[in-house]
Amino acid sequence: MTRKALVLFSGGQDSTICLAWALQRYAEVETIGFDYGQRHRVELDCRLKLRSELMANFPWAAHLGPDHLIDLGLLGEISATALTSDAEIAMRDDGLPNTFVPGRNLLFLTLAAAIAYRRGLSVLVGGMCETDFSGYPDCRDETIKALEKATNLGMERDFEFATPLMFIDKAGSWRLAAALGGDAFISLLCEHTHTCYLGSRDRRHAWGYGCGDCPACELRARGYAQWQEERL
Ligand code: ZN
Repeated sequence: MTRKALVLFSGGQDSTICLAWALQRYAEVETIGFDYGQRHRVELDCRLKLRSELMANFPWAAHLGPDHLIDLGLLGEISATALTSDAEIAMRDDGLPNTFVPGRNLLFLTLAAAIAYRRGLSVLVGGMCETDFSGYPDCRDETIKALEKATNLGMERDFEFATPLMFIDKAGSWRLAAALGGDAFISLLCEHTHTCYLGSRDRRHAWGYGCGDCPACELRARGYAQWQEERL
């Protein structure tokens, strides 16, 4: 364990699992988040709480390093989507949900690499997942691999872009979470992470807080139910 990592950490379930994964693998771990005028700031508010809960309750998280929060208001300005405006969440004609922010992950990883360069961190960890229902093209393994190559060429470094969730489904990510931190980590995920597109924290379900009806809640609930079934 000598390598140092930077985790793209939004405060959602997937990036929190990635953070736990990285903390158990790398000598030093820092986090980075982006404020791009999300229409709900709940995820950003969850970030610091999650970091302190992790450090307080899990010995493997004690070495968690600094957090970097980057102001990316310009992303909200140049891309009007259902995540950055008040538009209804819907499917577009091309099959992508209108929550798609074009180029978001490309921008996030490039900026993260610039921070990692400065901080001497060699692994970038992100929760991109190809098996996700939404089919965001910037979550594809091929996209991430190509960007890794472009970044290494353009910065003359040897970064590794690690995506531990790339090929597992939502039930698989709950399974991974349990393997990483047991029941205590599962309850931390349910209590403090946020994934709901509508920013709702009114209702507490078995799988956590959310409206229960938006695509993100449905996906999370379905994965949880599937994982529960497997455990029986
Ligand atoms: Zn929801």
